[in-house]
Amino acid sequence: YEDRHPQDQVKPDPSKKTLVVLGTGWGSVALLKNLDTENYNVIVVSPRNFFLFTPLLPSCTTGLIEHRSIMEPIRAILRHKKGSVQYYEAEATTIDPERKVVKVADNSEVKGSIAENEIHYDMLVVGVGAENSTFGIPGVRENSCFLKEIDDAQRIRKKIMDCVETAAFKDQSQEDIDRLMHMVVVGGGPTGVEFAGELQDFFEEDIKKLIPEISPRFKVTLIEALPNVLPSFSKQLIEYTENTLREEKIDIKLKTMVKRVTENTVEAEVSRPDGTKERLTIPYGLLVWATGNTIRPIIKDLISRIPAQANSRRGLAVNEYLVVQGARDIWAVGDCAVAGYAPTAQVASQEGTFLARLFNNMAKTESHEARITELSTSLNVQPGNAAETAQEIESLERQLKKIRDVKPFRYSHQGSMAYIGSEKAVADVTWWNGNIASGGSLTFLFWRSAYLSMCFSTRNRVLVIVDWLKSKAFGRDVSRE
Ligand code: FAD
Ligand code: NAD
Repeated sequence: YEDRHPQDQVKPDPSKKTLVVLGTGWGSVALLKNLDTENYNVIVVSPRNFFLFTPLLPSCTTGLIEHRSIMEPIRAILRHKKGSVQYYEAEATTIDPERKVVKVADNSEVKGSIAENEIHYDMLVVGVGAENSTFGIPGVRENSCFLKEIDDAQRIRKKIMDCVETAAFKDQSQEDIDRLMHMVVVGGGPTGVEFAGELQDFFEEDIKKLIPEISPRFKVTLIEALPNVLPSFSKQLIEYTENTLREEKIDIKLKTMVKRVTENTVEAEVSRPDGTKERLTIPYGLLVWATGNTIRPIIKDLISRIPAQANSRRGLAVNEYLVVQGARDIWAVGDCAVAGYAPTAQVASQEGTFLARLFNNMAKTESHEARITELSTSLNVQPGNAAETAQEIESLERQLKKIRDVKPFRYSHQGSMAYIGSEKAVADVTWWNGNIASGGSLTFLFWRSAYLSMCFSTRNRVLVIVDWLKSKAFGRDVSRE
């Protein structure tokens, strides 16, 4: 990175609008990357001071990829931006749309004398993502691991090895060995499937070699309430995925709804083909809960403050320009917004890019309008240059017409991909207005190269490649930090 000295820090310009961006995820970072920050006083607020490349997060749970390889510090991203751009590591706790103020709190371990504050905005972009859903099922929050953030992946990585080492403890009871070596994944969406695949790879490629005495007891179970896994993929790929997972010896329990979780067991209800229901109690060592998203408290609170959002259940309802319905000067992107698309990184980043274009255009419109007013005034004062001035006004008006003609946001689906273990992947890719469905080892290579090319920076790309090579050559690092 180029060096930037403290004196280079640009002070906020009172003549510009303050644009506050909440979050440093896919939506917000795509916006920041593409925004002409010179046009605004930009303030970014997020408790996470880095961007996380979530598609490779499941690989961090087993140490195939080291977690820092898929993180990019937000300060490194922002230092390249022009104008006044500030970042505060804090959580937005409340948005007051009446006063146009966001309350923020530093909830990190180290706090100064000021840990809470207010930030005024002229324009606000909400990109805070979503939380893990538990559907209020008892025991989930207390006993299971989620897979959304870096901490979650680190926690899972530690816990896998803790279970394995405890199972290998001298004279461990047979019952405990079976329980501890049983890894249960709830939710057969892409997160659950990818994690189950990575886990089985870890076992086959490393654990089996290192702890052969207990390895036959290792088992992965994937529980899904619906009749199939990966509901958003084509039928052919669903079948391929289920067959591959079974070949990998992953036990798939379909039409099985988890109802309760205790410290050591999962209680689930299976729907039998004859319509009867059976109750199962499944002992586990590690439980990973991957049943999708629910809205964050800050979004729930904002919804309650905007009467037009009374019927919003899954997030902030936005219009085709991503404006939060019923609010002034608030936009929303990504998983916290309901624009009619799936909660994916692909959607969030396209929304962020769209907003950047919209805001760049809005700033240009304002500057063109100001110039037109200035020229029109000078036309009255100095009629000498009338022809030239009129020409410039005409040209500016033509440009303005183009700028103002911003088409509404339309998501362009590039396809869906998922890793399914044993160096195989599935992909439903959009190609020349058609759809190509493929699964297998070649698709795995495509999956790897596609995600590698999407990594945030060259640094990330290099680190991920090195991690892949390292794991291939020396195996995953099984030391428990
Ligand atoms: P996020 O990326 O979750 O970012 C939210 C940001 O807001 C974070 O920086 C967070 O710290 C911050 N924040 C939270 N609360 C506050 C607050 N109160 N105030 C301020 N900031 C706050 N999608 C795909 O398209 N392809 C994939 O392959 C894929 N793989 C995935 C794998 C996993 C394991 C997971 C969990 C998800 C995956 N997704 C994938 C989905 C994708 O990650 C999400 O849809 C995407 O992250 C949504 O982007 P976002 O910007 O809305 O939220
Ligand atoms: P999801 O919502 O896609 O899937 C959750 C699954 O859990 C559902 O199939 C649901 O039927 C099941 N479920 C819910 N409650 C259950 C219960 N009590 N017992 C058993 N099963 C239960 O969630 P996800 O996989 O976390 O994905 C979230 C979003 O992120 C999705 O939009 C997904 O497309 C995206 N994502 C994409 C990728 C990828 O493209 N490779 C990877 C991960 C996530």
